[in-house]
Amino acid sequence: MALRMSTLFLRTLREDPADAEVPSHKLLVRAGYIRRVSPGIYTWLPLGLRVLRKVENIVREEMDEIGSQELLFPALLPKEPFEASGRWTEYGNNIFRLQDRKGADYLLGPTHEEMFTLAVKDMYSSYKDLPLAIYQIQTKYRDEARPRAGVLRGREFVMKDSYSFDIDEAGLDKSYQLHRDAYIRIFDRLGFHYVIVQAMAGAMGGSKSEEFLATAENGEDTYVHCPNCGYAANVEAVRVPVPDALPYADVPAAHAESTPDTPTIETLVAHLNAHFPREDRPWAAGDTLKNVIVTLVHPDGTREPLAIGVPGDREIDEKRLGAQVEPATVEAFEEKDFAANPALAKGYIGPGALGSESASGIRYLLDPRVVEGTRWVTGADETGKHVVDLVAGRDFTADGTIEAADVRPGDACPSCGHALQSARGIEMGHIFQLGTKYTEALDLKVLDQHGKLQTVIMGSYGVGVSRAVACVAEGNHDELGLRWPREISPVDVHVVATGKDVTRDPEVFQRSEEITRALEAAGLSVLYDDRQKVSPGVKFKDSELIGVPTIVVVGKALEQGVVEIKDRATGERREVPVDQAVTEIV
Ligand code: ATP
Ligand code: MG
Ligand code: MG
Ligand code: MG
Repeated sequence: MALRMSTLFLRTLREDPADAEVPSHKLLVRAGYIRRVSPGIYTWLPLGLRVLRKVENIVREEMDEIGSQELLFPALLPKEPFEASGRWTEYGNNIFRLQDRKGADYLLGPTHEEMFTLAVKDMYSSYKDLPLAIYQIQTKYRDEARPRAGVLRGREFVMKDSYSFDIDEAGLDKSYQLHRDAYIRIFDRLGFHYVIVQAMAGAMGGSKSEEFLATAENGEDTYVHCPNCGYAANVEAVRVPVPDALPYADVPAAHAESTPDTPTIETLVAHLNAHFPREDRPWAAGDTLKNVIVTLVHPDGTREPLAIGVPGDREIDEKRLGAQVEPATVEAFEEKDFAANPALAKGYIGPGALGSESASGIRYLLDPRVVEGTRWVTGADETGKHVVDLVAGRDFTADGTIEAADVRPGDACPSCGHALQSARGIEMGHIFQLGTKYTEALDLKVLDQHGKLQTVIMGSYGVGVSRAVACVAEGNHDELGLRWPREISPVDVHVVATGKDVTRDPEVFQRSEEITRALEAAGLSVLYDDRQKVSPGVKFKDSELIGVPTIVVVGKALEQGVVEIKDRATGERREVPVDQAVTEIV
């Protein structure tokens, strides 16, 4: 049945909503697709819901195509599984928590790794049950610090999340690749211009991870890309809290020495030669530090990790001493002392100082109290090749958190060395090799072919379904309104009858009805502007604002036996004989 503008639950607005900054938000509200209830919480009106359902269906078809099975978990979840995984605490203020009448804790699901893991544990016990891929399309809840741009960053939003379960890494690789290919088909069908970038693992933990970013100037994600070899990566920083109790004092310094003057590269080299003599030749400036950690202790007791030999090799470098102005103590540890202390092994070091380990194994060390703008902290990955400079005040603050990123614009491309360029995008999808993070925490094991218990290996794969609606709108509009790609437009054709009313222009309305019915008979969905006593100008404006790809105008030209067909995307108009209108469109 055609949607009729005379009865459709819709009010278009001529003015932009006051709280809207980005075009998609303004237009989706003005064209009557969504309506705000509260910050980051929106109602889907009939036109908007049709678009949302179409996006859902594209995602559903492609998931079904790779053999993933749809199911549906509740959004209201008990605390316990999230306690077991550590995320009840990790999420902090970012989730909605509530209690039932008995005082038991619950949360509204922000994502469902725990629930899927438990469901598989509940039902499966053998390697023969694997591989398995299951998914849902569901409403998620996150108490975002900055809900933004309408449904682009909501506090309630629709996500497709799927999860794969495999007996070994090779299986995971295969599942990951299947999802990656499906995502390419999904985003191609949605009509996005997008890039696939390497992602920071963030709070999820795990190994290989990629994001699908829709390119957009006002996107919140910054990514770097290499114009030479195509490498691309998100520069998203991970926030790491400063630990309350700092365990540094528990580790005895193997060797500590006060320096009467400002320590220099010579002080450091002399210290190393005295306490960690090398077999082949003496330590010298420019050497790489291996298995030794060197720290400066300032007169106020603050410790400044100068260089670290774990896990990568660090050069003994004059620059590293650049920020030092006072006499201090040089302390050195052997790596084994460091590794023996569990808290330090995690990456923390020094009172008020901290480090963190990123997904790629990069270890950051810094002291939040160092002077703003000082640039001295470095990290390295296992190969020691990838060095990151962190700048106080830019990368971390004294409020007890640090932000650290893998790569930055201007860095050399890790695969070819060319300078990386930066651009912005919106995260539309995220695929992730979780490994055993959740299956270990929740003890999901199955028997392998030798009758031995094996921890199941997991992947997780998300698509922002409601975000996609905003994102497509963001990439498909002009100053007049929205311009939907055919595949997700609320309807296929918008028929506009420009007559005054049925009694004065019976022919216009009658022809419009006929065309509408014929289009429907041909399998197309139609929005029919059958409103009486509404001026053609208003109807045209509305049709442009609503943005259906094909607009048929039935009006004055009927006298010449023609109607006008407009292509909303290109602006192209052509007149066609009334009786050919339907065949022209179908
Ligand atoms: P972002 O970096 O934008 O906050 P995320 O990395 O926190 O997203 P994931 O946990 O990877 O998000 O969730 C999978 C997908 O869900 C994302 O790729 C994104 O498309 C979508 N999504 C996440 N948060 C929101 C939100 N607040 N509103 C709408 N969609 C969202
Ligand atoms: Mg987020
Ligand atoms: Mg993200
Ligand atoms: Mg993500």
